[in-house]
Amino acid sequence: MTKKKSVCKVAFVGSECYPFVKTGGLGDVMYALPRALLREGCEVRVILPLYACIADKYREKMKYIASFMMDVTMEGRTFYVGIMELEMDGVIYDFVDNRDYFDWGNPYTNLWEDIPKYCFFSKAALAILNYLKWYPDVIHCHDWQAALVPLYLRTKFWNCPLKKAKSMLTIHNLRFQGICSIDHLKYWSGLPDGLFNYPILKQNEEEANMFKGGLAYADAITTVSATYAKEIQTPEFGEHLDSHLRYHADRMRGIVNGIDTEIWDSSKDKLLAAPYDVTNVLEKKWENKEALREQLGLETGCGKMVFGLVSRLTDQKGLDLVDAIFPQLMDGNTQVVVLGTGDPRYENAFRYYEQKYKGDVCAYISYNEGLAHRIYAGTDAFLVPSLFEPCGLTQLIAMRYGTVPVVRETGGLKDTVLPYDAETNEGNGFTFDRYMPDLLLEAVNEAKTLFFTDRQRWDAMVKRNMEKDVSWEQSAKQYLDFYLELKKK
Ligand code: ADP
Repeated sequence: MTKKKSVCKVAFVGSECYPFVKTGGLGDVMYALPRALLREGCEVRVILPLYACIADKYREKMKYIASFMMDVTMEGRTFYVGIMELEMDGVIYDFVDNRDYFDWGNPYTNLWEDIPKYCFFSKAALAILNYLKWYPDVIHCHDWQAALVPLYLRTKFWNCPLKKAKSMLTIHNLRFQGICSIDHLKYWSGLPDGLFNYPILKQNEEEANMFKGGLAYADAITTVSATYAKEIQTPEFGEHLDSHLRYHADRMRGIVNGIDTEIWDSSKDKLLAAPYDVTNVLEKKWENKEALREQLGLETGCGKMVFGLVSRLTDQKGLDLVDAIFPQLMDGNTQVVVLGTGDPRYENAFRYYEQKYKGDVCAYISYNEGLAHRIYAGTDAFLVPSLFEPCGLTQLIAMRYGTVPVVRETGGLKDTVLPYDAETNEGNGFTFDRYMPDLLLEAVNEAKTLFFTDRQRWDAMVKRNMEKDVSWEQSAKQYLDFYLELKKK
């Protein structure tokens, strides 16, 4: 049987990918979007580092393909590049093997070491495609860690068949840009001096910025929601790159993320106490809620409303607002479950509330996939009051699991959660606009009022949320359209 010709060949280059290694939403996207593109008829390869933390169960399935030496740095020092390959459901994953760079437990250590690591990785990704003679139509790069790919493509790889590929750079989070001294980046990247000027890599007289350079050189730029695409062109959200982004705006599009509806399928989710679908969500949510309370040591068998929060505990996530309203949130009829790690300031605040409101609050300071699933299923409402949120996946997962999000109207939260309208009885959740504790409290109280006084309408929203399309299908189609436009150029 002859293999059907793919509509587009795409190479993904990024620093994390579920299930091998994930610290946040980027890992989810690197897993789910390639699979969705496959369903649209694309051929997809994902290139990522072989970190020491990748579990043996995946390593055992990897095949050694080849190895070669590659020069990086200003002095042209050579480094080993091994290619370890694994195929999963039609997507090919090529892991870049190099013990010097990827022998830490976690993907990210500190910027001083991460910058050489991702210079090496970006160049190695292209060298691997070249070595394999797998020439994609589009090289889709993700965040600052892969931002040098478009620059390497147009300089070091200008003279090989790979140069026909177009590059796309997706901004998952503009806060992290890969900024360091010009000398540090010049040395480790080995990129030509000419790129270290103002419109490209130069940030100021002393510093260089990898993301800035990638955005200047990429053939296309995307970000993970239409609202965030607009927001980052303003000084408030632009992280000092707003004018740079306004300059390159004609090549930029916002395409909202989806979630993988096979992983996030409450009817088949083995991690849940009681899997459910839209027909039995109301009884089963109760069972999941009770199991969650039991597991976390909260009071069971009561009619209290349960709020969930699953998040990196950082300033971005609006946790100072949650901290500010916590005593008012705890009105005797409410329970709160927090799962996350991060800034000790927030970790300690939530630990304090757990002690103060024993039996009604659980602060689970850890990263735990299984518990995350049980929280999405076993809570009534879900807090995402972010300061900024490029897309946000947790509100999408919450809705899929019949949980009502309470979100700030920013970035992807604004694009995916329609505010509840009591007149028309439409909407998916409760929202607030300005970054103020009182406004979060108001939104939380609106949610509580509906939950306690009009359960029929609340339940209708639960069901509406479960039926909302939060899959990748529509977004994958938009990416494919953009790839095909680039391919024609
Ligand atoms: P970000 O990428 O900014 O961290 P997103 O909302 O895009 O935020 O994605 C967060 C992802 O990470 C979701 O899949 C969420 O369930 C998961 N997650 C965050 N914190 C934890 C945690 N402590 N334990 C398990 N999963 C977590």
